[in-house]
Amino acid sequence: MKICVLAGGVGGARFLLGARRLLGLDTESARAGSPHRIDAVVNVGDDAWMHGVRICPDLDTCMYTLGGGIDPERGWGHAGETWNCRDELAAYGVQPDWFGLGDKDLATHLVRTQMLDAGYRLTHVTEALSTRWSPGVRLLPVTDDRCETHVVVTGGTADDGTGAGDAATPGDGPDADAPGPRAIHFQEWWVKHRAQLTPSGFVQVGADAATPTPETLEAIETADLVVVAPSNPVVSVGAILAVPGIRAALRSTPAPVVGLSPVIGGAVLRGMADTCLTAIGVETSATAVARHYGARSGTGLLDGWLVAPGDAPADGSGAVDGVAIREVPLLMTDPDATADMVAAAIDLAGLEVPARTDR
Ligand code: GDP
Ligand code: CA
Repeated sequence: MKICVLAGGVGGARFLLGARRLLGLDTESARAGSPHRIDAVVNVGDDAWMHGVRICPDLDTCMYTLGGGIDPERGWGHAGETWNCRDELAAYGVQPDWFGLGDKDLATHLVRTQMLDAGYRLTHVTEALSTRWSPGVRLLPVTDDRCETHVVVTGGTADDGTGAGDAATPGDGPDADAPGPRAIHFQEWWVKHRAQLTPSGFVQVGADAATPTPETLEAIETADLVVVAPSNPVVSVGAILAVPGIRAALRSTPAPVVGLSPVIGGAVLRGMADTCLTAIGVETSATAVARHYGARSGTGLLDGWLVAPGDAPADGSGAVDGVAIREVPLLMTDPDATADMVAAAIDLAGLEVPARTDR
């Protein structure tokens, strides 16, 4: 079985652990000769240049998670990370000072940047980095081109952006000195402002000129099943869909397309996906996200949608606007629990679930 997964960072990576477990691809010996394959089409909207190096947070989160090197507490970055370089940069007073670049992580970025400078595509750079981590999943940046998520915000202050202290001048309105609408890089919004500046929209800088990689298109077209991971529907999956050609590929692939809800019981599990959904006018509910993606039988992307128990439409129809809905436990507590979610996605697509050989 060939599964193609659209993935963001933490949610995408945890989902891939489950897919790898289900298909028995956890170890290198098991992978040799296996008929199964997982391709992950990964978001690059979060990518940024910082201090002269190229940072690809979602690709690295997937790579470190699948490679066993992720920090389990934070869910991103290396386990056992140190921060000497960050502290030295701060001592020089250089900006940005709000992005925690770990020492170990920095090595990844240095290798990536050198290879990009030498003319390699991000796809091949990622493949080279993956040689060390052996993720057991082919990690494919959706595009080799720049297609960066920027966030339209108003207010705050130019320096701290929180708006705190703006009302200190008597007679001044709270926003009298605050900057007007502007687009800031996703990382500045997410990390520096902790998504506390209310967004009024998202734009993909570079999308006009970006194209999906041939590897990504091939992964979608030749898959037996395409799965939309329970990743942020706006800044992870939405940023993947913003690359021109991806929607068309998803609509025309012969493979069924099944998604998993990142919203359980009307709330997101971690991160600030609810803020992102609100900004684009989508309610934070499993069914609203299904409607947002839409049905392939209409003009959308999904054939099926897995929701958590209690989140299916109350009318008992088992569908939302032409998308087949099924309730299954959706907490990715460990790879085994997540493997069951992957099996449910395969089953909802009408495909035969491969037998697990490890239990
Ligand atoms: P990011 O790039 O690191 O923000 O990660 P993703 O976009 O891949 O995933 C973030 C999303 O994962 C959030 O919207 C969460 O609601 C969702 N999420 C995290 N853990 C779980 C889980 O155990 N189950 C489900 N269904 N969703 C989860
Ligand atoms: Ca991300």
